[in-house]
Amino acid sequence: MLFLFSDTGGGHRTAAEAIDSALRRLPGGAVVRTEMVDAFAACGVFPLREAIRSYGVALKVQPSPYPALYHLSNGRTRARIVTELGKPFIRGNFRQLLERVDPSLVVSVHPLLNELARDTIDATGSRAPLVTVITDLVTIHHAWTTNIPANQYVVASAEAARVCTSRGIPAERVHNLGLPIRDGFSPPADKRAAKELAGLDPGRRVLLIMSGGEGGGKLSGILRRIAGSLRALKLQVVAICGRNDALRERLEAMAPRFGAGARILGFVDNVADYMRAADALLSKAGPGTIVEAAACGLPIIVCDYISGQEAGNLGYVEARGAGVVALEARDVSVTLRRMFGADPSVMAEYRRSALESARPHAAEDIARFLLTMLPETAKNVTPVG
Ligand code: UDP
Repeated sequence: MLFLFSDTGGGHRTAAEAIDSALRRLPGGAVVRTEMVDAFAACGVFPLREAIRSYGVALKVQPSPYPALYHLSNGRTRARIVTELGKPFIRGNFRQLLERVDPSLVVSVHPLLNELARDTIDATGSRAPLVTVITDLVTIHHAWTTNIPANQYVVASAEAARVCTSRGIPAERVHNLGLPIRDGFSPPADKRAAKELAGLDPGRRVLLIMSGGEGGGKLSGILRRIAGSLRALKLQVVAICGRNDALRERLEAMAPRFGAGARILGFVDNVADYMRAADALLSKAGPGTIVEAAACGLPIIVCDYISGQEAGNLGYVEARGAGVVALEARDVSVTLRRMFGADPSVMAEYRRSALESARPHAAEDIARFLLTMLPETAKNVTPVG
């Protein structure tokens, strides 16, 4: 199985890795050879590779040009044009990759790789089916679906399934199996022990703060304005800044204002440990982060979102009661005071709804589905419905 992803944001790689590791646990899965390829880094050349690499930078500068790029390219024809423009700068090396790996199945977890994969599969005479795993929760950019190049589509929610069918993908080719998450995201049996494991004070309530893999968005402005509430509630703050060094430095300078023991981190590999230890999460509306938090029964306060691609995620969280959308600092403070207030049933209710919304077996269900797409192993596994 050839997995195609790109290190734009944190979500595409983690989705591919989650499916890969779930595959290892399935009967028939352990013998499947998987190849994980960051296709733009491995096969792209100037200027495509540099343009894709600039995604992180585009999200970190304020105001970010990314929403404009997203909206400009988001249309059936416009998405097609963008994809066509990129092809000359990746096609040759990508074809060599496909010929070298000679996969039985190609799995794309990136919107800009589907058509390229289809073209190349057809051009090389490969018989490998193409499965696209859409890693957005609700708002699906047209690049995921234009020309319907994949044989099968895996989506993360009923909302996403509706978008796909409304664009002409036959319902029997759309599989709502959830967003794949890595191992370890589950509610802790003992919250105090989870805090100790993460090196935190077991006696204090923990607010985890995140802003995706790139650490983009307006987080520092909000934190500056809610610092008083954080101190008043005596919360222990843990901020994960991802790959954004400038954000980390800004928050480190601000940390004394967040109360005693605030911890500011860069990119970490153990997000699950911090989510299991935390009592609430303050974050932008990244799809991966939302579903990981839900799997841990961790209520989320959504304070920011990437215009366009994460817009639908606000309604996703609210509809499931898994948290609160509070896009202004004042609303974040009000929400924190309510969640961490005297009535414990408020937090308990969010925790319950978060867990109810979770689909912790998504990676395994997707891996099982992918196995059914491999002719030689199809007979050994139970198809998912
Ligand atoms: N993440 C991580 N370490 C970090 C920051 C983020 O592993 O230091 C992971 C996070 O757990 C999630 C992903 O990166 O799986 C972020 O994905 P999301 O869809 O929330 O946002 P994106 O970064 O794609 O905008």
